Amino acid sequence: MTSTFDIYVTGLRNAHAMENQALSIMRPQVERIEHYPEVADRLRRHIGETEGQIERLKELLDLAGADHSGLKDTMLSLGGSMAALAHTVAPDEIVKNSFANFAFENYEIAAYRSLLALADMAGTSEAGALLQANLHEEVAMAEWIEARLDPLTRQFATLSASGEEAKT
Ligand code: MG
Ligand code: FE
Repeated sequence: MTSTFDIYVTGLRNAHAMENQALSIMRPQVERIEHYPEVADRLRRHIGETEGQIERLKELLDLAGADHSGLKDTMLSLGGSMAALAHTVAPDEIVKNSFANFAFENYEIAAYRSLLALADMAGTSEAGALLQANLHEEVAMAEWIEARLDPLTRQFATLSASGEEAKT
């Protein structure tokens, strides 16, 4: 038998690992961007937000009396770096990364909605506001990426068609 509280704590640990993975995806991406400063700015902002999200999750793990270190984080971070690396060979790297980032933000949104249900079931009333804060940042990021898909693609195609370096 696993208590709802234990399921909630596992959810917090998974979210903590997920956010470290997010950093390992975004940090190498932002380093490579040359022609899309608005994407770089937004990614840098979200890297800062993600660092804050990790602090909130640590606070929640502390409140739950659980530790926040683990091998799983390292493994997922490694996976994130590999995923970011995979797109560096693509001629449309900036566009492919926007697909992957949109998918990742929506994964995070799903994770926080699920975690909010678990926090509610576990009766940890103080967790709601912190989890909502993380959720709101993911929703805002997903909306930004979605709104940028059309103009970003046009910018990439226009640069490419004029023979300019456009992939990053
Ligand atoms: Mg996040
Ligand atoms: Fe995010």
